[in-house]
Amino acid sequence: MSSGAALAALIGIASTEAAECPRKDALGTSRVLSVDARTTPRVGLKSFPQTLALADHEVVLTFDDGPNPPTTSKVLVALAQECVRATFFLIGLHASQHPDMVKRIAREGHTVGHHTFSHPFMARIPFDKAKGEIDRGVAAVEMALHGSSTATPSTPFFRFPYFQGTQAQLDLLQSRGVVVFGADLWASDWNEMTPEQELKLVTERLAASGKGIVLFHDPKARTAAIMPAFLRYLRENGFRVVHIVPAGPPQKSADAR
Ligand SMILES: [Zn+2]
Repeated sequence: MSSGAALAALIGIASTEAAECPRKDALGTSRVLSVDARTTPRVGLKSFPQTLALADHEVVLTFDDGPNPPTTSKVLVALAQECVRATFFLIGLHASQHPDMVKRIAREGHTVGHHTFSHPFMARIPFDKAKGEIDRGVAAVEMALHGSSTATPSTPFFRFPYFQGTQAQLDLLQSRGVVVFGADLWASDWNEMTPEQELKLVTERLAASGKGIVLFHDPKARTAAIMPAFLRYLRENGFRVVHIVPAGPPQKSADAR
């Protein structure tokens, strides 16, 4: 075999396996869970009475407030190393500043949700202004992703900054078929602490809850720093990562008829 053919064979094998996971001992994504606003309009025990139907030792990884290229890229590398898919709730302003990073998050298979345009305390501003924050945030992310400015999100997942929304805002999102995410546990990575302290805190909380939607902030350097070790912890302790995606709309029959 020529060196060219050997190389082609090697690339062929590599690309076939990349569709699953190039590392056989990686954590991997154990299943995909589609989340439908009609049946689960609001999830996450921090804010709501119900959460996702996760089995024991199943976790959903979520990251808020990005993208922030230096740290978001580290998080993406750690997730890719373990073939794990997560959900990023992006701030519209940051998405408009870093459209390539938004595209990269989506290209690497992660779910892109929404987190307002400028991260205000939504419960403290008038309804129309809050609605504008939701719409502008979605439009900025959609512009980064698809080059079109629309207030209709291609992924109808939303998380309130500080978990604070009014009933009227919740009703608006529900009327639009948008799932509002709280969280079941969190890394408290907005607090000053060392990466070691954050890792200890979040793994202890996870050990206590046994499962759940976990909230991190990818712009936090300490979170980016612990991500490889956190994923290793999941792998070594029998946790399984669930990737959430929107429930698809009824399939258009354009190519069927
Ligand atoms: Zn936030």
